[in-house]
Amino acid sequence: MKIIVDRHRCIGAGMCVLLAPAVFDQDAVDGKVRLLDPAPPPGALASTREAEQVCPSGAISVVADGDS
Ligand code: SF4
Repeated sequence: MKIIVDRHRCIGAGMCVLLAPAVFDQDAVDGKVRLLDPAPPPGALASTREAEQVCPSGAISVVADGDS
């Protein structure tokens, strides 16, 4: 699994941090997403996918192993 975040799109809503705090954090200065773990373990896939779904700005992309 590989995670890509677009800080230019992020509006700092923080949903990703609530859902997957081991993968995402928010910058203390601008409130935008910080990627803590760009290649989290398979056990984090569900919560990271959920963050991708609920992110209001579409700033998160999750590429699962095996996806093209
Ligand atoms: S949920 Fe989306 S908009 Fe909100 S902080 Fe995370 S990446 Fe940014």
